[in-house]
Amino acid sequence: MHRQKNPSEIAREALRQLAIRKLSPTPINYQECYNEIAGISNAAAFPDAHLRQIALSLSAHTPAQQEQLDQLDSAIGRHSWKNFETALIGFIRLCVAPDPLRDTESASVMAGQPAATELLAKLALMIESMLPALESDDDRFSDQVAGLLKTLHDPAADIKVAQSELAIFSHRLSFAAEEQAEIKQALLKLLHLIIENISKLTLADSWLDGQIDALLNAIKRPLTLRRLDDVERRIRDVMVKQDAAKGRSLEAQEEMRLMLSAFIERLAKMNDSSAIFQDKLEESAQQIEQVKSIEDLPPLLEKVIGATRSMADETTHAREQLNSLQAKVLATEAEIAKLHLDLLNASASARHDPLTNVLNRKGLDEALVREIATMRRKDTPLSVALLDIDNFKTLNDRLGHETGDEALLHLVKVVRECLRPQDTLARYGGEEFVILMPDTPLHEAIKAMTRLQRELTRNFFLAGKEKILITFSAGVAQVTADDSGADAIKRADQAMYLAKRAGKNRVMGS
Ligand code: GH3
Ligand code: MG
Ligand code: MG
Repeated sequence: MHRQKNPSEIAREALRQLAIRKLSPTPINYQECYNEIAGISNAAAFPDAHLRQIALSLSAHTPAQQEQLDQLDSAIGRHSWKNFETALIGFIRLCVAPDPLRDTESASVMAGQPAATELLAKLALMIESMLPALESDDDRFSDQVAGLLKTLHDPAADIKVAQSELAIFSHRLSFAAEEQAEIKQALLKLLHLIIENISKLTLADSWLDGQIDALLNAIKRPLTLRRLDDVERRIRDVMVKQDAAKGRSLEAQEEMRLMLSAFIERLAKMNDSSAIFQDKLEESAQQIEQVKSIEDLPPLLEKVIGATRSMADETTHAREQLNSLQAKVLATEAEIAKLHLDLLNASASARHDPLTNVLNRKGLDEALVREIATMRRKDTPLSVALLDIDNFKTLNDRLGHETGDEALLHLVKVVRECLRPQDTLARYGGEEFVILMPDTPLHEAIKAMTRLQRELTRNFFLAGKEKILITFSAGVAQVTADDSGADAIKRADQAMYLAKRAGKNRVMGS
């Protein structure tokens, strides 16, 4: 058993060992020797503070690097040198070695592999085709893009350069996308304002009110090209009608104003002249009272007669003027009637049916041309359905034409709720409607019509308190490659006729 050394002996021995082992006399080395001699466990205190400082001075640029830093942090917390070492080495590896994807890319480009060069060329093509959508008037950006495209097209280009240029471009792209979203929002707001303004300008007209409600509704939902198309058509309709109405009403208003001022002027003159006449008569009456001899009367009478005559002249003149004004009023009335007729004609050039606010024949024709073009371009099926309400005449006869109109509105509402947004509903005739169903083969279209029938049996039409079941017969046809819109509707019409013949309330395919 060794005698226990006292501290000063240990200290001396520790210094001796430092010299023997040729260790530099740092506090840590000294402490280690001291501990060894004193037989104290040599677990040096864990330098948390220093290590944390080191860890803090490292910053991560990728999630993987961050992960290593987190591990580093937890290793310090747990005083684990091993984990500390693993995490630090892991972090350093991530910093010095490029990531594997980059490696292969650069290797293949450097080796001139055609696949990578081709990929870069395609990337360049994609960026070129994206440029018009960015609509940038920033010269610096244009220069950056030109540089990037040049790099991408160059088979010998440095991949690092391409990468950093691409990074700048994609950063810029994200800004552009945000900007475009904001522009779209602003445009929608503007559109809203314009439409609201239109409704303030227009004369009271329920057709226009309906159009404007439909417009405001159309722009409330997320915009699609199809919906924008609808918005455009409706705005055109409103503008046509507005133009006609406003021009004419301004003219008529001006004429009315002129006539009114003529009336007032006339009235004022009549008042004047009758007042003068009154004065003259009174004056004459007084003079007559004061007449003493008969000789004084003739000049007085002459005065009275004169005043009366001028009054009569005034009156004749006034009557003539009134007659001519009356003629003008009649003319203006005729003008207003014509204006009314013009408005009706304007409605005729419109694409929407005034009662139901769905497309009319003209609107349907245009929609058909468009849908058939899309069908051919995208090579997707297009179906048309023609539906005719059953026994509608009976409904009209029993409950009146107005209730009949309401029944039509009810049908339109149910159809709208039941169909997909991309389907088009048009009023083909009195109680006949056509539905265009893009991307829909015949059997699906028949299913859709049957679903609509079921929906109508669930969704009664209420005439006052009376529940009325509206049924329809429908014919469905799929538009063929060389069909015209009219051909397809004709086939749907024939099928509809067969459905009527077979007992109504059914759907037939052609
Ligand atoms: P079917 O089952 O064979 O189709 O018989 P139906 O009575 O429905 O057909 P019909 O063609 O004999 O009569 C259609 C009726 O639709 C006649 C017409 O008065 C009415 N109608 C057409 N347009 C309108 C409209 O805008 N409003 C109203 N209330 N009725 C209309
Ligand atoms: Mg009919
Ligand atoms: Mg009918």
